[in-house]
Amino acid sequence: MQELGHYIDGKRVAGRSGRTSNVFNPATGEVQAHVALASKAEVDAAVARAAAAQPAWAATNPQRRARVMMEFVHLLNRDMDKLAEALSREHGKTFPDAKGDVQRGLEVIEVCIGAPHLLKGEYTDNASRGIDLYSMRQPVGVVAGISPFNFPAMIPMWQMGPAIAAGNAFILKPSERDPSVPLMLAELLTEAGLPDGILQVMNGDKESVDALLDNPQVSAIGFVGSTPIAAYIYARAAEQGKRVQAFGGAKNHMIIMPDADMEQAADALIGAGYGAAGERCMAVSVAVPVGDETADRLIELLVPRIEKLRVGPWTLGDDVDYGPLVTAEAKARVLGLVERGIEEGAKLVVDGRNFHLQGYENGFFVGPHLFDHVTKDMDIYKTEIFGPVLSTVRAKDYEEALALATDHEYGNGVSIFTRDGDTARDFANRVQVGMVGVNFPIPVPLSYHTFGGWKRSSFGDLNQYGPDAFRFVTKTKTVTGRWPSGIREGHEFHFKSAD
Ligand code: NAD
Repeated sequence: MQELGHYIDGKRVAGRSGRTSNVFNPATGEVQAHVALASKAEVDAAVARAAAAQPAWAATNPQRRARVMMEFVHLLNRDMDKLAEALSREHGKTFPDAKGDVQRGLEVIEVCIGAPHLLKGEYTDNASRGIDLYSMRQPVGVVAGISPFNFPAMIPMWQMGPAIAAGNAFILKPSERDPSVPLMLAELLTEAGLPDGILQVMNGDKESVDALLDNPQVSAIGFVGSTPIAAYIYARAAEQGKRVQAFGGAKNHMIIMPDADMEQAADALIGAGYGAAGERCMAVSVAVPVGDETADRLIELLVPRIEKLRVGPWTLGDDVDYGPLVTAEAKARVLGLVERGIEEGAKLVVDGRNFHLQGYENGFFVGPHLFDHVTKDMDIYKTEIFGPVLSTVRAKDYEEALALATDHEYGNGVSIFTRDGDTARDFANRVQVGMVGVNFPIPVPLSYHTFGGWKRSSFGDLNQYGPDAFRFVTKTKTVTGRWPSGIREGHEFHFKSAD
């Protein structure tokens, strides 16, 4: 049995707490590894080492730090298949999707190569007589990131890239469900030239997270995961005076207007609703056709597409559309919500409950489900299901569809399918959701923009990656300098202004 520990001071080390968690092969249901769960003492020691290493890294010129990122990109490309294979093995997602997970992280590291440009600060010459004013961005010190199971490569890279490029040390607490890839990323960063101690990977559960939240040497916390935990992290870390950004769950709607290209909309819904078995925070889980005619046509187009979906293990490569859920608990939870939907009176148009895959009977596979006539008071509408279950809520008109997405407690992503420019524009302006797609089902912004939802999908002020991430991991210092030519004789009793 493989034993996975932590990554401290540039190497893998075994856990010492005596506590471990099982890592499953979701396709077979077998335990394939144990991962160590760090104690508070282990986390505190790793943070202390990081804090000691950080000043020298901050003093390294930004272009040299950027070169480490450049080499990291090269190594990620070199090891792409190896990383994707390790990722699929623990997460269960298909091989092409696992490569996408690495790729979308890598693209943020590419932007980090340009960090010196983003860290430049501002300068005002002769702000007043003989006075110059400048501001600089300094690293906050030690930043910690707590990441979810569903993107074990992408999200750790979103969190660690800007922090490290800006001169911070970084502690990553990855998900205990799929810890292999984060450890491999740390090894690659060491190979790329990152000094020891600047990235520490501490595997663990609530005990290690709480140790990070309470450690006074940790200045900023980034979290990505479910909303109840995001709310908890935000409150507890903020109470300790830390910077926090905590991203939570989602319930993403796709509005289909009567004038939409219906074939395109149906294809988009299949990929966005069932891809990665629905285990994406940007998955579309609610289809909102406008008008009964649109709804009937949509269902008619969706059903044969759903019935053709190929569900299976990642080892089958391109022959599989989506894989198993991550754990037996996740599978039981999703199937429980399907039962709840039936009890609530939603119409189950495609029933995946009896899905079986020969040779993989103990795997965590769930067949695809489609509900019609879901209403906004139902639990299956309010709850993030995080599985291959698409709900259809019929709206009578555009305003009702817009209100559904706007009023939902989550506000991560949303999209509209229409051929009408005015409707698309009105929708993008008025909908209360952070990321909007127009004829685009999963609007994850590219790495030089930023990623973040609204409402209970995000707690804190700044988004992930892009310019916002560099603001999050740096503090602004402003210097006002006066030289003898600007100094008048005698005392000055008034507050200086620009004269
Ligand atoms: P999760 O909240 O269960 O776990 C996330 C992290 O928090 C893990 O590292 C876990 O070890 C830790 N954790 C779990 N329970 C904790 C507790 N009680 N105290 C402290 N730490 C705890 O989430 P998950 O199941 O790994 O991931 C799926 C969720 O993440 C979904 O809700 C999904 O929408 C969300 N997600 C959001 C985004 C986003 O950017 N908004 C991106 C990806 C995933």
